[in-house]
Amino acid sequence: MAVKGRVLSVASECVPLIKTGGLADVVGALPAALRVQGWEMQVLLPAYRRLRGLLPGLREVWREPNLWGGEGVVFQGEVEGVPVLLLDAPHLYDREGGPYNGAGGDWPDNPQRFAALSWVAARMAREGFAGWKPQVLHAHDWQAGYAPAYLAYGGPSGVGSVMTVHNIAFQGWADAGMLGVLRLPREAFHPGQLEYYGGLSSLKAGLVTADRITTVSPTYAAELMRPEFGMGMQGLIAARAGVVSGILNGVDTEVWSPEAEPVPFSVKAMKGKATARLALCEEFGLSVPTGPLAIVVSRLTDQKGIDLLPQVVPEFIASGGALVVLGSGDPALEGAMRGLEQRFPGRVAVRIGYDEGLSHRLFSGADAVLVPSRFEPCGLTQMYGLRYGTVPVVALVGGLADTVIHASPAALAAGVATGVQFHPTDAVAFGQALRQLVALYADPKLWARVQRNAMGHPVGWETSAAAYAALYDGLTA
Ligand code: ADP
Repeated sequence: MAVKGRVLSVASECVPLIKTGGLADVVGALPAALRVQGWEMQVLLPAYRRLRGLLPGLREVWREPNLWGGEGVVFQGEVEGVPVLLLDAPHLYDREGGPYNGAGGDWPDNPQRFAALSWVAARMAREGFAGWKPQVLHAHDWQAGYAPAYLAYGGPSGVGSVMTVHNIAFQGWADAGMLGVLRLPREAFHPGQLEYYGGLSSLKAGLVTADRITTVSPTYAAELMRPEFGMGMQGLIAARAGVVSGILNGVDTEVWSPEAEPVPFSVKAMKGKATARLALCEEFGLSVPTGPLAIVVSRLTDQKGIDLLPQVVPEFIASGGALVVLGSGDPALEGAMRGLEQRFPGRVAVRIGYDEGLSHRLFSGADAVLVPSRFEPCGLTQMYGLRYGTVPVVALVGGLADTVIHASPAALAAGVATGVQFHPTDAVAFGQALRQLVALYADPKLWARVQRNAMGHPVGWETSAAAYAALYDGLTA
C-alpha cells in the first residue's frame, strides 16, 4: 500500500525490547498493524542499560547536546520487525533496575528522565530526521505526556499530536518547583493547562495539549469522565470530550495462536486442548477437576481484584473447580495466593513470577480465565482467553465490558455469548459469576457453544489499526 503518512510513536516500553505491562504489547504491535493501513510508524524509547548492547548495530540519527545533565544520541534500527529509535543518554537510563525504579524504589529523577524522552520526541517530530518527517506525534501514557506539550508550547509545527491513556492511575506527578527545570512555560502554570492539584502531571500536560486523546477501550473512555475512574483527571477529560475516543487493543494472533502451541488445537479440533488440560494438571500436581480449571495470569495488585480470590475460591473448589495463579506484585497478595495453595493442595497451584511460556500453557490447558479487575483500561488476558476457548469471567469495567459477551439469557438464546461478566467488582458478584461458570461447564453442549463463540471472536489488530489510521487521517486532512 502507498504510504499515507508517518507517525513518531513515543513510549517507555515496547515489545520485544522492554515490557512491564500491556503498554509494551500495544506499542510494539502498532507499527506492523499500521503499515497495513498505509501509515509508517517508528517508536522512540529510552536505551535502558539492557538495550545498550543493541546500539553498535544501529545508525545514529539525532544528537541532543543538552539533555538534563548530559548528551542524548538517538540510534535507529529494526528489532524483530519493529522500527525503533533508541535514545541513549547514559546519565539518565544506564542504570541497574527497571525502567521506572531501582532497588531503592522509583528513580527520584523520573520527571527529568521522561521529560528528556518527550523533549527529544517533540524536537524530532518538529524537525524530521534522516530524511523522515512525521505528520503525527503519538504519545503513550505519563512517560510521554510532555511530548505533545513541548510540541504545542514550541509554536506551530504542522505536526498533529495524539495522547493515549493506557492507565490513568499513573500520572507522572512532579513538584510545582520543577516547572522551570522541566522547561515548561511559566505562563502555562494554571488549572486550564499545566497546574495539577498544586503540582505538575506529565499526563495532564499531554491531555490538555494534544490534538486528540485516545484510550484503549470505548467504555474506559466514558469511565474516565467520571470521578470513580478518572482519578482526578475526570474534569479535564470531560471538558475535551469532543476529541476523546476509545480504541480497543488487539492481540498478536501469531504469538497467541492455539494452532501454533506445542499441543495444537482449533475450533474444529479441540482434542489438543483436552490434552493440554491434563498436562497442566500434571505439571502443577493438581487432581484433574470435575468442574472448570480456572487460571489467573496477572500483576497481583489491588487494581486486578486479586484480594477477592480468597473469598470466592473455597466455594469454587467445593463445587469441583480448580485454580492456577501466575503472577507477581504486592507481597501481601502474593502471600494470600500462597495461602490458598496451602489450604487447597491438589486444587489450587500458585506460581509467583513472570513467565510467558507458562502463560501460553495455562491458556492452552485451562477452561476459564478470571479477570476480576476494579478497573481495566483494555485488558489483554481476557482476549487471550477468547482466542484459546478459555472462557473469560470478567468484571464489567473498561475493556472487559467491550470485549466479552455476557452469557445472559438473551445472549445464550441468540447463541452469541462468549463469557461471563459481573458487576460490581465485589466478592458477592464474583462468587455468583463463578456459580454461573460452573453451571455452564456442566452443560457440555452449551459449554462447547460458548467456547466456539469465544474462539470466533475477532481479537486481532485489524479493526483497531483501522481506527488509529482514521484518527491520523483526521489529523492530516
Ligand atoms: P496490565 O497492563 O494492567 O498489567 P494487561 O492485561 O493489559 O494488564 O496486560 C498484561 C500483560 O502481561 C498480558 O500480556 C499478560 O498476559 C501479561 N502478564 C501479566 N502477568 C504475567 C505473568 N506473571 N507471567 C506472564 N505474563 C504475564
